[in-house]
Order: sequence, then structure tokens, then C-alpha cells
Amino acid sequence: MTALEALQTYFGYEQFRPLQDKIVESVLAGKDTLALLPTGGGKSICFQVPTLVHDEGLCLVVTPLIALMKDQVENLRRRDIRAAAIYTGMSRDQQRVAIDNCMFGPYRFLYVSPERLESEEFRRKLAELPIVMIAVDEAHCISQWGYDFRPSYLKISEIRALLPKQVPILALTATATPEVAEDIQQQLLFRAPNVIRQSFARENLSYLVRYCKNSQDTHSAGRTKTEELQHIVSRMPQSRIIVYVRNRKRAEELAGILGCPYYHAGLSPEERTRRQEAWDGIMVCTNAFGMGIDKPDVRLVIHYDLPDSPEAYFQEAGRAGRDGQPAYAVLLYAPEDKAKVQKRVADNYPPREFVEDVYHKTADFLCVGAGSGLGHSFALHIDELCHTMRLPVLQTYSALHLLTQAGYIDFQEEQDNQARVMVNVPLHTLREYQLSGEQEELLHSLLRKYPGVMTELKYLHGEITETIHQTLTGLAARHIITYIPRTRACRVTFVQERQTEVYLPRQAYEKREDAFKQRLHAMMEYAEQTSYCRSQLLLSYFGETDAPCCGTCDVCRSKKG
Ligand code: ADP
Ligand code: MG
Repeated sequence: MTALEALQTYFGYEQFRPLQDKIVESVLAGKDTLALLPTGGGKSICFQVPTLVHDEGLCLVVTPLIALMKDQVENLRRRDIRAAAIYTGMSRDQQRVAIDNCMFGPYRFLYVSPERLESEEFRRKLAELPIVMIAVDEAHCISQWGYDFRPSYLKISEIRALLPKQVPILALTATATPEVAEDIQQQLLFRAPNVIRQSFARENLSYLVRYCKNSQDTHSAGRTKTEELQHIVSRMPQSRIIVYVRNRKRAEELAGILGCPYYHAGLSPEERTRRQEAWDGIMVCTNAFGMGIDKPDVRLVIHYDLPDSPEAYFQEAGRAGRDGQPAYAVLLYAPEDKAKVQKRVADNYPPREFVEDVYHKTADFLCVGAGSGLGHSFALHIDELCHTMRLPVLQTYSALHLLTQAGYIDFQEEQDNQARVMVNVPLHTLREYQLSGEQEELLHSLLRKYPGVMTELKYLHGEITETIHQTLTGLAARHIITYIPRTRACRVTFVQERQTEVYLPRQAYEKREDAFKQRLHAMMEYAEQTSYCRSQLLLSYFGETDAPCCGTCDVCRSKKG
């Protein structure tokens, strides 16, 4: 089967999009390849088609986003292509079943989250899997100097060495500065440099910066950010609009003022899906909104706060106008943003003594004594930790990330831990408990659906409605079952036994702090300057120096008069 035939047969698309064919060809020729395609450019096809061109063999897909992973697996299954996923939060049994399926069944895709690559069990089985290629999605996460570094991505090169034969690796990302692109290829042990990229220019997107006055300023003329925001959206009624803000509280506040929904990671996954699907006007959100937005007709993306980096800005702003029709990316900027940026640096890089303090307090909180804890993994509720130990929340998060980079712990932010249940009383005694009809029905369905639920905690599948939750809680109160409701906790794993002292190498602290400041600085330059075409300026940051003036940004327009 040719690549084009595979595209048509399996996916029903007539043609490859620009560059997809070149990327597929490169992979099929066995070359390591770094592909830079904008969000929505169709990166998934680039590893799915080469895998399916052959009649058998497994593609190992490394991707950090569990939600997207589940989506893709569903999508493939709908097309009768066997695919499986392994991620933290699945039970050991579930993971084992997934791997065994790939080992013995006609599976074509195995999606894994990068931290799974560290598991000994997974590594042992890896050599036995019929892997024909490795795809690394969101490959910019591998770069320590990039804006979204994930330490577990560094493990990807190690698994290359564990495979019995050389297979091509395809790295995919929508954003990479020249340094990051270089870094990706090095870290993934590319046998020869090979980058396939498309211009990131977006002709239909106009970049604008609106200068506002400070929020408390009642004297000067002009609008505050909130007033400007109201003004702008009032001029675009009936349009799909995204307003990005930095924190959850502000998202809720502004949604109240604009009378529209908000979206942030504090909402339950079900609620988030519901809001995303119902969305047809303005949405105020944090950067939790974005992964998997597939609405092509977003007319306007407004940033209420200065983003952390040009990469983040470009990605988020780029969600406007995917249908090719005119669209706007507006950044609101006020004099006070300068000071806020300073504070952001301080919040992200708290003093070393503070980081050490967080290390010891976290260990104490989790009852890990000096010299112990190696390999132990804990659910961690940051709010409780901070409350008990009197730590400031924001900086504590940062400290835990720094400790991860320095190799003391592995800290992962909030994720879903599915609910678990075990039945504690023998079946034949259930009658003695005088259960309600609902309780009885639920218990019977548990026993039917989850063999072994009498002897060990079982993860519950499917949605747990409020009614089911109530019934389970009622049963647990009477000790008929053990019920661990779903929690959204962070996870901390001790990668070394607890140390008495913490040392943060320059690599893990100053160098990252510098890179962070540089990115912020570039973002401020973008906001403050009024002499260069904004599109050109952004693109030059990604190494594209030959893009023409856009003619539609505020700078270009003011030059035209
Ligand atoms: P990315 O990962 O680059 O953001 P995706 O792989 O999620 O993009 O693809 C975005 C959308 O484009 C998907 O809905 C996908 O099915 C569609 N798509 C990809 N390639 C093609 C193609 N050759 N023809 C038509 N639609 C395509
Ligand atoms: Mg993608």
C-alpha cells in the first residue's frame, strides 16, 4: 500500500496537506525526522500513515497529554485500527493488559505518557514489542531551555537504546526556536540532522496590541484592560472569542462581567468537556483551555495578561482563524505589567533556601524520614501541604518543579486519580444490612462488573454521577464497602532517598531562570515596541527571518497612515 492509499483507505482524506507527504516519505525512508507544523496542521497523520503503510508493526507514541491520548485512541478504534494507551492513573492490571495486547495482538499504536518510560516493568517489556517507529509529540518538551520542559522527556533517548533494532524517530511540534530545534535532535540522538518545516506565517491573522491604563487608575484618560476588553467584544457580537487570563480567579471574575462561561483546570473533567462542547460565544479561560480545541471559526483571541513566552503566545493566538477567514489576536498591555513580570520571575524562582525548606516540609508532611523514601510515590494535596506547613502556594509549586529538575523528586501537577472501590462483606450476609433498592442494585452491579472486587480495590470505569457517588458514600459509611472517591491530587515520587541537604545546580536553577527571563523579555519587547511588523517579529523569534510584512498588524497599519 502506498502512503496516499493508506491516507485514503484508513482516514478517508483525498490528499495530504502541505508537508505531510514529505514528512511521511522521510520517515518511510528510515530517517529520523523533526517536523514543525502549526497546531491543526495535521501532525498525527505524519506518524499514523507510515505505520499503516506496512501490514504490521507497532508505533510507540510518546505524548504528555492524557486527554488527547484518549481521544486519539478512540479515533483510531473508530476506524478499526487497534490502539492502546498507558498512562499514570491506570491500574497495574490495566497497564499490563495494554502491553500484552500490543505484544500478542495486531495492535498498531501504543500511546504512552513520558513518565511511563521510567517504569522498570515497561522497559523490560519494551524489547519484546514489535516497534517499527517512535513518534514524539510535543517534542519541544524535551528542551531544558524551552518554555515547557518536562524532565521525563529526557528518558526517551534511553528507550531508543533498549530496542533490538534501529527504528526511525519522528519528533513533532508546533513551536520551536532554532536552539530548541537543535536541542530536540540532539536529545533524541538523531543519526543525521533532518528538519522539515513550514513557514509559520498566518496571512489571515492580524496581531494587535492595545495599550491600556492601570486597573486602579481613575485619573488618566483611556480605558483599563477590563474596559477595553468590554469595548472590543461588544464590537464583535455573535463571534467565537477566546479571552486568556493567567489565573482561575480572574477567569471567573471576567466571565461574571462579560456574562459568559469560563474554563479552567479547577473544573471537573466532565464539566470542562461540557463547556467546551457548548461553547459558541465568548470563553474566558486559563491556558488549560486549548488542547483539543477544534473550532476553526474563532474570530478573536484576546490576552488579558502578558503570556510567559512568544511560544505560548503564538500557540494561543494561533487558535484564531483556522478557517482561513480574517481573525484577530489582541494583546492588552498596561504600564503595571512590567512590575507584574518581575514578580512572576520571583514566583517561579524562589530563593534556594525556600526550595530546600519546601523539600524538607514536603518530606515531613508525607512522613518520609531522612535516608528513606526511595522510589515511593505519594498523592499530594498542595493546599493541605501549604496550609499545614504554612507555605505560599504559588512558590511551593515552583519549588517542587525546581526540585524535580534537580533530580530529587518527580513532581507532577494535578491529575485525575480514578475512584476505587472494594466490597468488604461476604455476599451472603448482604441481606442482613437492609439495603435500599438503589444500594442493592449498585452492589450487585459492582460484583458483576468487577471480578475480584471482594478482595482488592478496583478502579471504577465510566462516569460516576452524583447519585452513584452518594450511594457509594452511604455504603462506605456503613463499612459495607471501601470507597476512595476520585481525587485530583498532584503526585510526588522520591527519585532519591530523602537527603539532608539540597543542592540546586546552575543547570537546574540559574540557567533555567535566565531562559525564563529571556522569553518574558522577548514578550515585553513584542508588547512595547512600535516599529517592527508584529508578525515578522514573532516569526523571527522562531528563526524565520524572511517573512514579509503582514500589513495588518497595528504597527503596519499606522505606517500606512
Ligand atoms: P495537530 O496535531 O498538528 O494540531 P491533528 O493531527 O490533530 O493536528 O489534525 C488536525 C485535524 O486535521 C484533524 O481533524 C485531522 O483529522 C485533520 N487532517 C489531518 N490531515 C488531513 C488531511 N490530509 N486532509 C484532511 N484533514 C486532515
Ligand atoms: Mg497534535
